[in-house]
Amino acid sequence: MNFKFSEEHQAFRQSVARFVDKEVVPQAQAIDERGEFPKELFSRAGELGYFGLRYPEEIGGSNADMTMFCLMVEEIARGSMSLAAGVAMQCLMSTNFICHFGTEDHRKRLLIPALKGEKIGAFALTEPNAGSDLAAIQTTAVKDGDSYILNGRKTWITNATVADFFTVLATQDKSKGIKGVDFFLVEKGNPGLIIGKKIDKMGVRASETTELAFENCRVPKENLLGEEGTGFKNLMSILNQIRVMTGALSIGLSRAAYDASVKYANERVQFGGPIGKFQAIKHKLAEMAMQIELSTLIVYYGAWLIDQKVKCNKEAAMAKLYASEAANKIADEATRIFASYGFSMEYPAQRYFRDARFLLYGGGTSEILKNIIAGEIGL
Ligand SMILES: Cc1cc2nc3c(=O)[nH]c(=O)nc-3n(C[C@H](O)[C@H](O)[C@H](O)COP(=O)(O)OP(=O)(O)OC[C@H]3O[C@@H](n4cnc5c(N)ncnc54)[C@H](O)[C@@H]3O)c2cc1C
Repeated sequence: MNFKFSEEHQAFRQSVARFVDKEVVPQAQAIDERGEFPKELFSRAGELGYFGLRYPEEIGGSNADMTMFCLMVEEIARGSMSLAAGVAMQCLMSTNFICHFGTEDHRKRLLIPALKGEKIGAFALTEPNAGSDLAAIQTTAVKDGDSYILNGRKTWITNATVADFFTVLATQDKSKGIKGVDFFLVEKGNPGLIIGKKIDKMGVRASETTELAFENCRVPKENLLGEEGTGFKNLMSILNQIRVMTGALSIGLSRAAYDASVKYANERVQFGGPIGKFQAIKHKLAEMAMQIELSTLIVYYGAWLIDQKVKCNKEAAMAKLYASEAANKIADEATRIFASYGFSMEYPAQRYFRDARFLLYGGGTSEILKNIIAGEIGL
């Protein structure tokens, strides 16, 4: 048994941490206030090779393991959850299916530039009436000669306002439920693709999230990503990675909220001494520190299992559930330690509190994750 990160992992974490401390942390509040996609920071992440971490070297990636990838998203989330949300989308969900099922042309024109941050991808599953229940999606794909024609609506699509291409889930046969769904590649500029209005959100405000509509949106048959009827199976193949990754994003936010709370507890003086000397505040910080340790253990255990190619549906669901709920508790306690200053937009505690909510939804809500864990333990 070995609970230590390798020297390579530690050195990589330190290099990402330097980027975050120097370039992300100083801008995190301003990008949240502006509520606009942080294009320059996103491009920097591309230049630094972060988007290609999980991809083969021959297409410009670095073939890194899941642990390395989680260390990167954890550090970025420590600086800015808005940036981390966009980065995570680019690294995994929006590029994965093009890498595995796209044509040589898709790889050359879209994927390779995306790994450098020169093109941006989005991933569109959710619909107004289908969130957790993906079998209920209404967006249809109908074969027409050498094309498919897509019709329907999507919502909550991260990076859609700035995206060059979209991996879209649509059904070819509603009667088959989840077995009738497939992924399709749709490129910006397609006359049948309509980018809708930006959703005004309480958190991750600089990660732009938008509605989409497909109106007789014609794509060539090569844009079917994967064999017909395998969309759900292919989604399942990355779901554990999405969950463990969201756990790592949660640790980043938890650490930021904890660090800010420790600093404030040492500085803020009431009743003649720093508030950190009061047992009530010490206990809060002790609980927060423990939850970060536990999140770290369960998330990196999940990453290790993925790296060992061991089935880990239960562990990945637990990692996301525990770490995202812990991030919400930690961010809540941070606002209590800051008290009225936690209510002020000038201090960061409120941002952690708002951004933490984002972690509760994608990759499965806490309720859905409990259902999955219950199923895995035979209930
Ligand atoms: C900031 C942000 C960015 C997002 N980005 C993307 C994106 O890029 N692409 C994308 O496709 N989607 C995206 N989403 C959508 C996200 O994946 C969904 O919000 C998520 O799948 C949950 O769906 P829903 O919000 O419709 O909730 P619903 O599924 O409507 O759930 C509502 C409530 O009912 C509960 N519930 C539902 N079913 C069950 C059940 N069987 N048992 C018990 N409880 C249940 C849920 O846990 C929840 O509490 C994003 C969401 C947010 C907030």
